[in-house]
Amino acid sequence: MTEPFTIAIDGPAAAGKGTISKAVAAHFNMAHLDTGLLYRAVGARVLAGEDAVEAARTLVAADLENDSLRTQDVAQAASKVAVIGDVRAALLDFQRAFARRAGGAVLDGRDIGTVICPQAEVKLFVTASAEVRAKRRYDELVSRGQPADLEAVTADVKARDARDMERAEAPLKPAQDAVLIDTSDKTIDQAVAAAIDAVNLKKG
Ligand code: C5P
Repeated sequence: MTEPFTIAIDGPAAAGKGTISKAVAAHFNMAHLDTGLLYRAVGARVLAGEDAVEAARTLVAADLENDSLRTQDVAQAASKVAVIGDVRAALLDFQRAFARRAGGAVLDGRDIGTVICPQAEVKLFVTASAEVRAKRRYDELVSRGQPADLEAVTADVKARDARDMERAEAPLKPAQDAVLIDTSDKTIDQAVAAAIDAVNLKKG
């Protein structure tokens, strides 16, 4: 396939978006962009003392390779810079161009189906209960050898959900035409299969 074809995958933290997106992109041989990394990279530069809007406007590829991007501190900083309209605006063109690249693209985030790419051919909204998501994030931190406390991680996930859903700019919500996938009781393989089925239905 050489035509643009966008698969938008949105949902709250630790619902399984990243895993599903990578698997879907590999299955359909498409490029993948984890848009959360853009906000994390801006958040990391803010923690290092920079202005958020300036950081978003001058983001470079090397910023996305910073090892600290997956920490809880950076996740919180990301969701704080993500409420700033000028930060979101500075990241818009890059995401839109990526979405329409030849050969198709999978983008995962919070506002891909609603704001970045309302014309996406396929929109998925991947979710799971807050407890299941917190446990997954906790297991992930432990497996990476990072200090983790389940109660603190749960509070963190809930705080980030609230900030992402309640913000004025591009709040987290399913697009009207999104296919909902609840991964609470699904294995990774089942969740990936559900996503691939949903894409195949739209591809015809
Ligand atoms: O997906 P991830 O957990 O890496 O995202 C980090 C934060 O970046 C989110 O909590 C959210 O505030 C923000 N974000 C966003 N829009 C996106 C992707 C991420 O606001 N498309």
